[in-house]
Amino acid sequence: MRKIMVFGAGVVGMTSAYALARKGFAVTVVDAGSSPAQGGASFGNGSQLSYFYTDAMASPSMATSLPKYLLGRDPAFRIELTLSPRFLAWGLRFLAQSTQTRFERNTVDILKLAMRSRQEFSELSMKIEFDHRQTGKLNIYSSQVGLESAKRLSGLKNRLGAEQVILTPDEATAREPALADYGHSFVGALWSPHDESGDCNLFCRGLRAILERDFGVKFMFNTRIRTLKAKSGRLTSFATDEDEIFCDAAVLSLGSSTATLARSVGLYLPLWPVQGYSMTIPATDLAPIANITDASRKTVFSRIGNRLRIAGLADIRRGDGDFRQHRFQTLFETAQGIFPKAGDYCSDVKAWNGLRPVTPNSQPIVGRTKFDGLFLNCGHGSLGWTLSMATAELLVADILTPSQ
Ligand SMILES: Cc1cc2nc3c(=O)[nH]c(=O)nc-3n(C[C@H](O)[C@H](O)[C@H](O)COP(=O)(O)OP(=O)(O)OC[C@H]3O[C@@H](n4cnc5c(N)ncnc54)[C@H](O)[C@@H]3O)c2cc1C
Repeated sequence: MRKIMVFGAGVVGMTSAYALARKGFAVTVVDAGSSPAQGGASFGNGSQLSYFYTDAMASPSMATSLPKYLLGRDPAFRIELTLSPRFLAWGLRFLAQSTQTRFERNTVDILKLAMRSRQEFSELSMKIEFDHRQTGKLNIYSSQVGLESAKRLSGLKNRLGAEQVILTPDEATAREPALADYGHSFVGALWSPHDESGDCNLFCRGLRAILERDFGVKFMFNTRIRTLKAKSGRLTSFATDEDEIFCDAAVLSLGSSTATLARSVGLYLPLWPVQGYSMTIPATDLAPIANITDASRKTVFSRIGNRLRIAGLADIRRGDGDFRQHRFQTLFETAQGIFPKAGDYCSDVKAWNGLRPVTPNSQPIVGRTKFDGLFLNCGHGSLGWTLSMATAELLVADILTPSQ
């Protein structure tokens, strides 16, 4: 049986392990955390399985708002310029993806991946308890320009089977009664009936049980990988704090840390961490049933069990993503302004922040590298939970294809 290691036990590493184990590989998963999805973005993300709202991050509206982001005038989006060549190279490539043509092409490519993920998910989601909900999603627009752009894009997506519908405020409120308490005015909404949600952390824990029980997958937790080693164009080993471990086949799925580890063997990946925050509070009876994205305030709301998960903010800056209280406060106040009655904002507020591993075109990087035995599954940006099942399948297909 062919052996392979998966570096990273976030949702991308866990689904990679699942896809590999199902094809008969003997898999060992290595992670610095003490259990799956603890140390990265998969722990507290927005919970949305956003199969049909797949808009790329680099867009014409993002490009025109750049001065606002750089000056700190947008509560949800911030860019702190750093003079590192790596940042400038990533930033220029990101900007190059902001034209209307590229934005639409990237969005449609991600949509295709997301639709494949949805198919792959349907079977596995029956076997794991993760507060899965199939309630659809409403994107709420406060500006006519935003709504018009959503309308145009939904036309493209509907040709591929998205079945998205534009609703008036009255129609949206009839569909989602929680909008009666929406704290702002809005001009319309986009309804995506097939979007879903669920707790990504719970999913990863459930998947671990399946991997161990049904496939004999092994886990090495509390193991931080420091460097990779390669010789004569082949992966040979990796070093942890304690040991150097022989390994001739591995998948790098370390979320935002993937670029750092890849650099240890001279691979340069166009990945930048974009920091976001979430809060989880007890839901009230007035919490929305559908997933909600407030498009103007870039804030998402999802029910997970009897909790309400609220996520947002995108800070492009240097560093490992230290928690900044004032940024969390921005999310807290924005959420309270949008849905003041949807949750208990006074007690048991669980604050969290994480890093989205973002590529210039918002598309994941999947497959082989210039080193034999070294594969990538990373760069899932704002949609790693949603896209993970599809990229795991693509990864395995690439591993099984003989190299030229
Ligand atoms: C605020 C926010 C909201 C989001 N909302 C959504 C959403 O609603 N829907 C959606 O689809 N996506 C969402 N995302 C994106 C999604 O969470 C990520 O794309 C996804 O979790 C990435 O998964 P991953 O497995 O690649 O990385 P991670 O989950 O970050 O996992 C990486 C793993 O690697 C381990 N690791 C890192 N470095 C090392 C090392 N050197 N040695 C050993 N182990 C290491 C970490 O411990 C971690 O377990 C959101 C992200 C954020 C930040």
